[in-house]
Amino acid sequence: MAAARRTVIENGAIATVDADDTEYASGHVVMAGDRIEAVGAGKAPEGLENVVRRIDASGHLVTPGLVNTHHHFYQWLTRGLATDHNLFDWLVALYPTWARIDETMVHAAAQGSLAMMARGGVTCAMDHHYIYPKGSGDLSGAIVRAARETGVRLTLARGSMDRGEKDGGLPPDFAVETLEGALAATEATVDEHHDASFGAMTQVAVAPCSPFSVSTELLAQGAELARRRGVRLHTHGSETVEEEKFCHELFGMGPTDYFASTGWLGEDVWMAHCVHMNDSDIAAFARTGTGVAHCPSSNARLAAGIARVPDMLAAGVPVGLGVDGTASNESGELHTELRNALLINRLGPHRESALNARQALRLGTYGGAQVLGRAHELGSLEPGKLADLVLWRLDTLAHASIADPVTALVLGAAAPVTASFVHGRQIVENGRLLHVDEDAVARSTREQARRLARIAAGG
Ligand SMILES: [Zn+2]
Repeated sequence: MAAARRTVIENGAIATVDADDTEYASGHVVMAGDRIEAVGAGKAPEGLENVVRRIDASGHLVTPGLVNTHHHFYQWLTRGLATDHNLFDWLVALYPTWARIDETMVHAAAQGSLAMMARGGVTCAMDHHYIYPKGSGDLSGAIVRAARETGVRLTLARGSMDRGEKDGGLPPDFAVETLEGALAATEATVDEHHDASFGAMTQVAVAPCSPFSVSTELLAQGAELARRRGVRLHTHGSETVEEEKFCHELFGMGPTDYFASTGWLGEDVWMAHCVHMNDSDIAAFARTGTGVAHCPSSNARLAAGIARVPDMLAAGVPVGLGVDGTASNESGELHTELRNALLINRLGPHRESALNARQALRLGTYGGAQVLGRAHELGSLEPGKLADLVLWRLDTLAHASIADPVTALVLGAAAPVTASFVHGRQIVENGRLLHVDEDAVARSTREQARRLARIAAGG
């Protein structure tokens, strides 16, 4: 076997986000093929063979790549609409437009979403896609293709909805699938796209949308399907007071008890939002190892509330960060969520001790890898893990006067990405994507957004 080609990064500050939060004021990272081979203080060891590239990271902070744990790529085409609504009103306003998406639109939207995240240091993304209009083409295939094109690692959460208005649900009846249809299509997506091996570029999760848009049967049978196939489970949970009221009215219990009754607590489950959780809900998540995708900007945009992240972390709940769909977080970036997670949680009862900068960075890296079930592969800079990492430039006007690099990254303005690597392959150079034409992506997202608006208006 040919020796792995090595890339040596030297002279940068390094935040490994390992179990001890090891940092180096000036250190090195050696990548060999798709893996991290060495991390440490000072220069890289001398005498390394097969070094194809040396990167001088002076003025930079090197971190693990950011991991996004909740998103809806298709929403890239419906940003900036229904801007003054709460979740339920916002959904009702947008469902009729969303129900007109097709494969071309979803591909453009996925490229836009992935490109925006990758430019901001995301190396592992997820897409929770739950709208599959009849005759709309191969939407899952379009999403996977877009991830391959940009070079970002992907978890595709194959969503579904089968509780339309006639069954007491929120989505219009024309936007939902049947129970049998949703389960069969989800399993087909696992067959076609899920890779269970170490270092997989594409994984699939089973992801019925939410308690107010899916039947109890779809939740229960979806959980059985996921466990039979050995894939993870994802959904939205405890997002708003309206959802809590809905669960009490329809099921006679709160969302967490309802999830427990349908098999939806466990270390193979992660849930978006989890804003309205009482102490016993948090204890149930901790006891079962159920993970949380914390989406602070989206929760603020939709006036959902403040998730109790400090209490979750204290209880031992795995927590990652999420952009959420860009119809409720128009920026579409994850690095700003590091900052927002810290700031918004300090508005809660724990005040200044809620989260610090290093905890925020951990949520966006190792925490994300944990909730995606990939902490043994991703989320920290340690020998043997996958070479997914980012060089953040901190020596320009925006950050140069901040002494501590992690503080600069989390509390400062969004830092420029000089280089980003996924699986040892560079995907971003000086803030520009290397494998797709960013300007062409911008044009096609604009065209497809206009096309969708026209079709939705009946034109
Ligand atoms: Zn969401």
